[in-house]
Amino acid sequence: MIALTFTSLGLDQKLLAQVQRQGYTAPTPIQTAAIPAILSGRDVIGLAQTGTGKTAAFVLPILQQLLQGQRGGIRALIVTPTRELAEQIHTAVVAFSHGTGLRSATVYGGVPMLPQERALRSAVDIIIACPGRLLDHMERGYVRFDRLQLLVLDEADRMLDMGFLPSIKRILARLPTHRQTLLFSATMPTEMQALTSGTTRDALTVQVNASLPPTTVAHALYPVVETQKTAVLLELLHSTTTASVLVFTRTKHRANKVAAHLEQAGYKAARLHGNRSQSQRQIALDGFRNGTFQVLVATDIAARGIDVNGISHVINYDMPDTIEAYIHRIGRTGRATRSGDAFTLVTSADQPLIRAIERTIGHPLERRTVSGLAAQELGQPPTANRRPPTTERQRPATDRRKPARGAARRSAQRDNRPSSRSA
Ligand code: AMP
Repeated sequence: MIALTFTSLGLDQKLLAQVQRQGYTAPTPIQTAAIPAILSGRDVIGLAQTGTGKTAAFVLPILQQLLQGQRGGIRALIVTPTRELAEQIHTAVVAFSHGTGLRSATVYGGVPMLPQERALRSAVDIIIACPGRLLDHMERGYVRFDRLQLLVLDEADRMLDMGFLPSIKRILARLPTHRQTLLFSATMPTEMQALTSGTTRDALTVQVNASLPPTTVAHALYPVVETQKTAVLLELLHSTTTASVLVFTRTKHRANKVAAHLEQAGYKAARLHGNRSQSQRQIALDGFRNGTFQVLVATDIAARGIDVNGISHVINYDMPDTIEAYIHRIGRTGRATRSGDAFTLVTSADQPLIRAIERTIGHPLERRTVSGLAAQELGQPPTANRRPPTTERQRPATDRRKPARGAARRSAQRDNRPSSRSA
């Protein structure tokens, strides 16, 4: 796949500014393939799972089409199986549509109908809905889809697994047939063929096979709770024979914090992130290359393009956002024929991406615990932090939500973490 920039995908300046605000530097493969196709007006079948950047792959071109079209009426409907996904998509929509005046709302069960009814009656531009509740509203007669231009069926295979096919068919029967349809699914089981042929016309299938990590790298996962990450990192460094270690964190602030903890514990640690000056970065890199620093703590963006040989260990203090980023990070060790280790500290919020990575690699990743800390302490989040079961997250639908910087992250799944993203 040719490396592309967001600018070359034909997106509007307003959207590009929001993409940049999210900290995305380059489109993921599914975005590179799907965005131009969707902008051209074609129906698209996207074979992509969580962690590939699929949400932005359909949200960005939808927003662009809505920006270009005439306002008025519900113009885009995104149907997704769970309320978490609905919230996640909504967060992305709100973040990317910042400053455009486009309005969106979520529609799912377990929360009062009335705010949703108001949003549907006031015909916000984009509705993100779970099938059952949407149908409830539709059957009450006040939902008008006559201006609908775009329909997305997200995680279509999961919707079939969850038994939503009859509801989806009833929804589809009431939508205008002259529309653009985008269907995203991680898999394409035979049952899906009837759905795809019944909903899409002359669809372009975009399939992206994630590249595989080098086989010279041994991966291991360390299930942890957020508050124990530093202790686990220190224990790992203490109990492992390491030469040079690259530690990844999600934000600049976390990189500083982790490096400070390492220094306190007696390690020679350097930091590499977007707030460091060119000379500070150079000192960090040179010192890491020549062994002055045993550990380099870096953010993804800052670490892009650094070329250091002989990294014995990559430790993901924070899980990256995408499968691509995971593979890219751990490819820093185990180059050529050298072998390396990649350790990843994972919390319960990281599970969807872990499953996606395991599917890509084709086998489960090894789970380990560190000796200094009790296994049961690490495996289970404390009661106060434990997230409610998937079907019970309750959050009211809103017409407009104040966009947060970095809000398109998997915030619905990571709501106990800071949501800002920086590098
Ligand atoms: P998704 O596959 O849509 O669930 O996205 C997974 C995560 O990747 C989300 O946290 C997105 O914010 C993030 N993401 C999506 N596109 C990009 C990109 N081009 N660069 C970096 N992160 C991205």
